[in-house]
Amino acid sequence: MSKRTTTRKKGGPGTRSGKPAKTAGAPEPELTEYRRKRDFTRTAEPEGGGSRARHRPQFVIQKHAARNLHYDLRLEQDGVMKSWAVPKGPSVDPSVKRLAVQVEDHPIEYNEFEGIIPQDEYGGGTVMLWDRGTYSYGGTDPDPQEGLRRGYEKGDFKFILNGKRLKGSWALVRMRNDRPGKPQWLLIKQKDEYAAPGSDVAAEHQTSVATGRTMEEISG
Ligand code: MN
Repeated sequence: MSKRTTTRKKGGPGTRSGKPAKTAGAPEPELTEYRRKRDFTRTAEPEGGGSRARHRPQFVIQKHAARNLHYDLRLEQDGVMKSWAVPKGPSVDPSVKRLAVQVEDHPIEYNEFEGIIPQDEYGGGTVMLWDRGTYSYGGTDPDPQEGLRRGYEKGDFKFILNGKRLKGSWALVRMRNDRPGKPQWLLIKQKDEYAAPGSDVAAEHQTSVATGRTMEEISG
């Protein structure tokens, strides 16, 4: 609980030039792997350590043209963005199950990131903000906060997206035979009024939800 109440020092002798000062005393162990993989003097991606304000939990989907094109689904939980790489992107057809490989937790500020990661850096390539919004619990636990936490831990994570492009009820279901360290899940649209059998939502939307740019325009 103590890390929740850590306040961020503004200015003062600790402030370095360029990027904002790191948050003293807030190590955020969930972000250790994220930070280890990146050189923040070379990439414009955020280092993390910012806001932990109470708000409706956020989600974001980033289209990422790294070595292999994929979509990164990120769902806020406990001050970080739980993250999955979805090679084929989301499908709004409930009969389609999309592989979602869990990757390291990302900082909440990553939700604002659209741009280019240098080619020789981790995840080098173009990143587009493909969808974003808030989400809420989609299961039956009377306590929604606990329901989300338990659902994630049990590998049966039910949530309702309120984005620009994706809405309604979804599930992430962890597969039993996954590799340690790289848990594999399935992303599945649940049947509701936002389900659209046969449609290909990833192909339908080729522009940034934030700036309207195409991948080519972001990289150029
Ligand atoms: Mn990615």
